[in-house]
Amino acid sequence: MKYVGAHVSASGGVENAVLNAVGIGANAFALFTKNQRQWVAKPLSEENIAAFKTHCAEHGFEPHQILPHDSYLINLGHPEAEKLAKSRTAFIDEMRRCERLGLDRLNFHPGSHLKQVSESECLATIAESINLALDQTSGVTAVLENTAGQGTNLGFKFEHLAEIIDQVEDQSRIGVCIDTCHAFVAGYDLQTLESSQAVFSDFESIVGFNYLKGMHLNGSNKELGSRVDRHHSLEQGFLGLDVFKFIMTDPRFDGIPMILETIDETIWNKEIELLRSFEN
Ligand SMILES: [Zn+2]
Ligand SMILES: [Zn+2]
Repeated sequence: MKYVGAHVSASGGVENAVLNAVGIGANAFALFTKNQRQWVAKPLSEENIAAFKTHCAEHGFEPHQILPHDSYLINLGHPEAEKLAKSRTAFIDEMRRCERLGLDRLNFHPGSHLKQVSESECLATIAESINLALDQTSGVTAVLENTAGQGTNLGFKFEHLAEIIDQVEDQSRIGVCIDTCHAFVAGYDLQTLESSQAVFSDFESIVGFNYLKGMHLNGSNKELGSRVDRHHSLEQGFLGLDVFKFIMTDPRFDGIPMILETIDETIWNKEIELLRSFEN
């Protein structure tokens, strides 16, 4: 079973995200459980949580169809102690919000070295941040997203993801999410069926599909290897549709939330239909 949806708005309450997903014909969705541009948010209310769970039950959404995303402010690899502590606290709060909503995974960008430490040191700090968060929470898997490699962001190589996973103590609660736009601009050629197959066989040998807990399905408005993160609609930009045909017909992508973060939300329903048309 393929689960396809989009990163929908949770404005007015997390429960609204469920209805927004239903409105575009999705059977998966992503959401922010708090304002993604603020450090602190008030706790979710019992009413919000109850309404979220009721809507999910009514519309047949289970945890493995939902991929919450954390705040963009968090840097779990921050080289400065005070700022690292702030990020770790915020991340644990995000994990707890997921726990309370009954969700089983949280998607986040690994972190940035800010040119102050080596890649390996930063990756070790990220792994330590994950270990601390997993220790203090239960039931939620930390889902690392591959990045575009813009600025000093790590996670743009499958090897980065593997190096973090290797240092995580509870490997039953670490996973990855692959963003097609990020992979492409990071230098992974996803322009044809054959090249997509090759990229994901590298993924299998370096990381492993057993860790794949979600996908971000995005077109790219920048070229292969540009390391600039600009999403586009599926049918526009430099990526082409072959990678999506590959994903929609390969059973290794079954059973996980696959999320559009494409730029024109007015056509998300059509993009979901397009993806569905590739299945057989
Ligand atoms: Zn993404
Ligand atoms: Zn992106």
